[in-house]
Amino acid sequence: MDEVKTPATLREAIAYFSSLDNCVSYMSSKRWPGGVECPVCGGTKVTYDAKTWRWQCSKTHPKRKFSLKTGTILEDSPIGLDKWLPVIWLVTNCKNGVSSWEVHRATGVTQKTAWFMLQRARLALQGKNGGKLSGEIEAGESFIGGKARFMHKHKRAEKIHGRGPDGKAIVAAVLERGGEVRCKVG
Ligand SMILES: [Zn+2]
Repeated sequence: MDEVKTPATLREAIAYFSSLDNCVSYMSSKRWPGGVECPVCGGTKVTYDAKTWRWQCSKTHPKRKFSLKTGTILEDSPIGLDKWLPVIWLVTNCKNGVSSWEVHRATGVTQKTAWFMLQRARLALQGKNGGKLSGEIEAGESFIGGKARFMHKHKRAEKIHGRGPDGKAIVAAVLERGGEVRCKVG
């Protein structure tokens, strides 16, 4: 498999994420650095169907089939990863001033959709203090990996019921760990 790159510019991000295969290798390497895990049972015996970009857990339980979106803020979104990942990339790397018009022009989604995506991605990145997550990232990552049970009890309660950052939202923060990339729109 090709080495997973972190795009350095928006143009690069859009080109890179226009391939769903790239989306899958990029996001799965961030989400499951130790190998793909079933979001329901945590099992690692999974088979990948390259035609549908979905995995199936080898154990018998409901929701055996899952995609990268399963269990993340993107789960209920009809918008594809090819649009989401560049937007998440933008928000994580260009914290000041990305406008919905820029996203609209760059990705081709409507400006209204772009606005919604930015809202959602920004919320995902907002810590309790309105700043960056840093310390929250590990917990959040566990959460999206379906392992809330491994979290510290208070943390978990906060994540699930509290007003802290929505654990599910942290996929964006996870993506942020992809490396030190500077923001270059264009
Ligand atoms: Zn499973």
